[in-house]
Amino acid sequence: MANRLLPDYAGTLADRGLIAQLSSIRLREAIPHALLFCGDDGGEALPLALAFARHILCEDPGEDACGHCESCRQMDLWDNPDFYLCYPVIKADSREVTSEDLHKDFSSLLESQVRFSTEDWRAVLKGGNKQPHIFVAEADRLIHITSLSSFKSRHQVVLIWQPETMREDTANKLLKLLEEPPKGVIFLAVSHDPSRLLETILSRFQRIDVPPIEEDRLIDYLVSNSSATLDQAYEAGHLARGNLLRAMRLLEGKAQEHATDLALSLMETAMQRTPKAYREFANQAATLSRPEVISLIDATDRMLREMLALSYGTDDIIYTRLSIRDRIRRVSEAVPLSSYTGLMDDLSAARMELMQNASIKIVFFDLLVTMAMLIPKR
Ligand SMILES: [Zn+2]
Repeated sequence: MANRLLPDYAGTLADRGLIAQLSSIRLREAIPHALLFCGDDGGEALPLALAFARHILCEDPGEDACGHCESCRQMDLWDNPDFYLCYPVIKADSREVTSEDLHKDFSSLLESQVRFSTEDWRAVLKGGNKQPHIFVAEADRLIHITSLSSFKSRHQVVLIWQPETMREDTANKLLKLLEEPPKGVIFLAVSHDPSRLLETILSRFQRIDVPPIEEDRLIDYLVSNSSATLDQAYEAGHLARGNLLRAMRLLEGKAQEHATDLALSLMETAMQRTPKAYREFANQAATLSRPEVISLIDATDRMLREMLALSYGTDDIIYTRLSIRDRIRRVSEAVPLSSYTGLMDDLSAARMELMQNASIKIVFFDLLVTMAMLIPKR
């Protein structure tokens, strides 16, 4: 299947009743000219609005966009001349910046993850403490774009992500356009904090509240679409309060923690210096998936770097979990400074072999043997 930059309804976990309503107003051609999707940051509001835009522009729509017309194929690549997505940006010096200038960055973010938060976008913008805004240059651009007749379909869709970041001058400039857009132009907006919207803007939109994902549905999704166990999926699905991005982040944190624990036990096994212990560890590693063993290698490398920092007397270690802190300290006391480079080389050689599909069991057994040689007997 083609890699879709912009999702259809099936690519979201938005409430099915809400999707049915949107789908129906699209098919009846009863789309309001300005719709505001409200929902939490990183949630389904943005994917749903994108899917609605796709459905509006689709040339052969059923209940969902068809997926194969020219417009849909252009949406797959986010290259549809009738679709304009605008989002907050950071001003570079005194130069006017619009979403268009950051198309590439936003596009890579969409490509790497369908769901992302304001923080993820700010990390891409690298603006430090600077607040991203939708500046007046964007309003000028929107006025210009919507004045051109639509390219192919009968509609032209402008999607504004986070209208609450609009400067007042931007909002004032857009008021008239939002009140009476040219024929065929539809404004969609996605807000994570509608209370920050100027009343004048808010009043021009019809509001749709996008509810959180139902817990059971979220858990089912996590079970079938991540490596989480049922227990982990239950826990993350519950704590995430209906937000898939939050659930995935919770699971990543858990996976990271698990890799760290394994990395520590890899080091401790090397210190035991017995083939029996090596064999046991290698057998255990062989029950993991290849991505999991690679993340175990990476976690060990991270841990060595931490231990190295520790031996230079820094107190600033990232492993704050008390349960493993003392164990890490004990391992770091056993490893001489002169051995770190060798250990890291061993890890990177093992990583390479794992990437080339070598037997997990053999790679870990050999790794333990070579690592043990770099840790003096106590
Ligand atoms: Zn289509």
